[in-house]
Amino acid sequence: MKEIYLDNNATTMIDPSVFELMKPYLENIYGNPNSLHRYGQATHKALNDALNKLYSGLGASDLDDVIITSCATESINWVLKGIYFDEILNKDKNEIIISGVEHPAVGAACAFLEARLGVKVKTLPVNSEGTCNVDDLKAMISDKTALVNVMWANNETGMIFPIKELAQVAHEHGALFHTDATQAVGKIKVDFRSAGVDFASFSAHKFHGPKGVGGLYIKQGLKLTSLLHGGEHMGGRRSGTLNVAGIVGMAEALRLANLMLDYENSHIRRLRDKLEDEILTIPDVSVVGIRANRVPNTILASIKGVEGEAMLWDLNKAGIAASTGSACASETLESNPIMEAIGAEADLAHTALRLSLSRFNTESEIDYAAEQIKAAAKRLRAISSTYAYSPSWLKKDK
Ligand code: PLP
Repeated sequence: MKEIYLDNNATTMIDPSVFELMKPYLENIYGNPNSLHRYGQATHKALNDALNKLYSGLGASDLDDVIITSCATESINWVLKGIYFDEILNKDKNEIIISGVEHPAVGAACAFLEARLGVKVKTLPVNSEGTCNVDDLKAMISDKTALVNVMWANNETGMIFPIKELAQVAHEHGALFHTDATQAVGKIKVDFRSAGVDFASFSAHKFHGPKGVGGLYIKQGLKLTSLLHGGEHMGGRRSGTLNVAGIVGMAEALRLANLMLDYENSHIRRLRDKLEDEILTIPDVSVVGIRANRVPNTILASIKGVEGEAMLWDLNKAGIAASTGSACASETLESNPIMEAIGAEADLAHTALRLSLSRFNTESEIDYAAEQIKAAAKRLRAISSTYAYSPSWLKKDK
């Protein structure tokens, strides 16, 4: 049976050459990079080389900090909770602004801050394109705002947010700015310095690196209370013996992803657009967000008259892995939060089908996937009483 992986926004296959580079650090070169003996020296050198690659690949200056974490969820929690200690506790600021379509790592951490520590969390609305208006932030921000948190690219729609402009508004009002760049790194060019952000989170497994390693960019000179106390790892900012193999893998994965950005923007974008055009030939289907404003690999299609779970199951039987949205929210298959936030239809009678490609997908895979999606929509609609008997759709279909 064919196996076609179109769920790269959930996680990606590790690039085989990345894995090869990591292997020695999982086998023979195992010293603690903080140890002074030659075992430690060997890993220390690998660590330094990897950090250099990360700094240049992310557009960080040597004066900034790129701190290794276990994943983007950790980085995000660190920023949000650190801001509480540094900017809210014992100060007259008490609010955080987040966009209405952040990943659950942001939403859940903010819900915790709100419920347990009394932080006021305000939601910056998203427009019908699934992005935020800078003017809405201007209207909402105040001198009580400690942090503005807006993702660089959305995990479900792929929409890219105006990060530089939003960060500027935050700074004009004395607030700090964090971007969750998890879905942007490796897909589009990111340069944290020139974007003017204070903090940025990312995770290696989203760009063909290993799982269990991510990072937090912290702009030069910024304080951020540590959450993991212990040894002097990462300059004392985040303690815990370093995952050298993971860091080596993440740095190489980033180098490769950046090398392939042009390919991503031409070849992957062309395959994505081809798949999208085919899906749009199905009646009663819409795709969220303007193509030019999306990362090149993502499609979020709303398909009327088909249940999401049934569609995924059908595709799975045909060997295609897709998703109805964020893998972290998969228990809420029937109501996709982003579709609600942007006012698009997604409920038991509409699939919010997310297809996310990678550089490992081929044209023949995409052609096959398009045929299977069209066939599944037809088959499932034929047995869907909701589609056949919905009076409004009947009217529209005539
Ligand atoms: N932020 C975004 C936008 C994501 O898409 C994800 C993962 O899906 C995360 C954060 C969390 O990443 P991780 O699971 O690596 O912590």
